[in-house]
Amino acid sequence: MNDIGAVIERILAWFAEKKRDLPWRDTTNPYFIWVSEVMLQQTQVDTVIPFYHRFLSRFPTVESLAEASLQEVLKTWENMGYYARARHLHTAAREIADSMDGKVPSTYEELIGLPGIGSYTASAILSFAFGKRHPAVDGNMRRVVCRLFSIQDSVDQPRTKKKILELATDMIFSADPACFNHAIMDLGATVCTPRNPSCPACPAQGACLAFEQGNQEGLPVTRKKKPIPHKHMTAGIIADETGRLLIIQRPNKRLLGGLWKFPGGFKDSKETLEQGLIRRVREELGIGIEVQEALASVEHAYTHFRITLHAFQCQWRTGKLQVLDCQDYQWSNPKDFSSFPFSKAERKIIALL
Ligand code: SF4
Repeated sequence: MNDIGAVIERILAWFAEKKRDLPWRDTTNPYFIWVSEVMLQQTQVDTVIPFYHRFLSRFPTVESLAEASLQEVLKTWENMGYYARARHLHTAAREIADSMDGKVPSTYEELIGLPGIGSYTASAILSFAFGKRHPAVDGNMRRVVCRLFSIQDSVDQPRTKKKILELATDMIFSADPACFNHAIMDLGATVCTPRNPSCPACPAQGACLAFEQGNQEGLPVTRKKKPIPHKHMTAGIIADETGRLLIIQRPNKRLLGGLWKFPGGFKDSKETLEQGLIRRVREELGIGIEVQEALASVEHAYTHFRITLHAFQCQWRTGKLQVLDCQDYQWSNPKDFSSFPFSKAERKIIALL
């Protein structure tokens, strides 16, 4: 591209007129920006906004987040999914409170050393909070850069990622870093979209190689995705004589770690649902159960697989409750379930019960 500076100027002028009004853009508080960027990692902007306000009114400072229990943090995060984000945020807040004087660090090396902060999030914090010249290469920026420069190599390859970062670094050089990152993100989110980009409305059209070649939708090039596997899971609804239900807490380091659920889990390919449920309850709690009627089934999609979760009424028959393949267990009245963090699939079962 001949004149990067002129293209950036046009993009920034377009941004000044069309920018999205988002709550985390009114601040340079690095903690607020960090929270927003972690939330935005896997969740749409419109969904994040109410969670962002709720989270920050509950945990307004790094210290308040560090002092909270993981259970409180997961409860506040409930329904946003990808709970590892909340666990990492909590662990990192404790690290910052303990050894960084409660201040979110302002160097790439320190940020990248914290749990849950990768290259994109570190660059976003550095540019938005500290005005440092770090391009925040997310999916939107990657797509815009690939199209502007007609990059034909797969973006999954490390050398293509490096090339995109180098080009973005050249581009950010002539602009205010925060404005540049916001402008390219907004351009990717609203104009240079994955399907049907609005090239006639694009401030970079005159310089865009993909547009010149009529190959906008062919870029970026990605590796073909494998089909998403589907798995069956079971949940045992076990009541005591007073009507309380048995729930267990998932181990912190596993999928949905720290959240609560009904006993049960994945079914092996050679088992029936009932056999899988009996096996999992014995592994988790050391007790023998009788599986009775099927109560409900719900579907749910995670990033790398889909599940059908089948709930069965069960009776505790043998053994003594022990904490084995879980972190804790409790007998709880269903009306108190609102105080426990559950996953979305579990909440769907609770609603049906
Ligand atoms: S001209 Fe079209 S393909 Fe090129 S950057 Fe603009 S919207 Fe994207």
